[in-house]
Amino acid sequence: NYQTAAFLTSAPTLAQCPPDTGVEVAFAGRSNAGKSSAINALTGQKALARTSKTPGRTQLINFFTLQNESDQRLVDLPGYGYAKVPEAVKQEWQHHLADYLHRRTSLQGLMLIMDVRHPLSEFDQMMLGWADDRDMPVHILLTKADKLKSGAAKQALQQVRDRLREWEDLVSLQLFSALKRQGIDQARQQLDEWLHD
Ligand code: GDP
Repeated sequence: NYQTAAFLTSAPTLAQCPPDTGVEVAFAGRSNAGKSSAINALTGQKALARTSKTPGRTQLINFFTLQNESDQRLVDLPGYGYAKVPEAVKQEWQHHLADYLHRRTSLQGLMLIMDVRHPLSEFDQMMLGWADDRDMPVHILLTKADKLKSGAAKQALQQVRDRLREWEDLVSLQLFSALKRQGIDQARQQLDEWLHD
């Protein structure tokens, strides 16, 4: 079903988002963490995340509908961190992100993408805090797992789990690799749970 995902629209602010009906799941991650690759791997659609990387769209909230279920959406949130932009602009993006995460009623859960070698950045912690503000579940993909040996990847997973102990009711996590197609079924199961229950 995720293969049918198609670009719907982009919005700069919560007010310009499509109607807040049905259900959606949002993807967030620091720039370069591997968010686009994860979305591509989960939907089997290269063009999707490319859409979000089109210049001018990178700092927009990008919506994709699942074709057979027009009231189910995947949402690609702006990547964060690499752009050398003025502090005031960053504050503006942060404000829109927080607004979306706090107030979007159809939002069922957040897929938070982290490079397994650099987990829990300041940005990641900010997102977790916002999700926690409204008791919204978060599923973490520790991606680029192929960059570590299997033992080291498992250790990294355990370390992140330990650091998130205070949030264990809200947060689940897994290893993922878009390159090796590792963890795709598990991640899709989480999407299913949020979009169908
Ligand atoms: P985004 O900025 O978060 O959307 O990140 P991208 O998906 O564009 O990925 C950033 C870089 O990491 C690119 O060079 C990707 O090829 C690479 N990358 C993404 N996922 C993986 C993965 O699972 N394994 C490896 N080895 N590289 C990855």
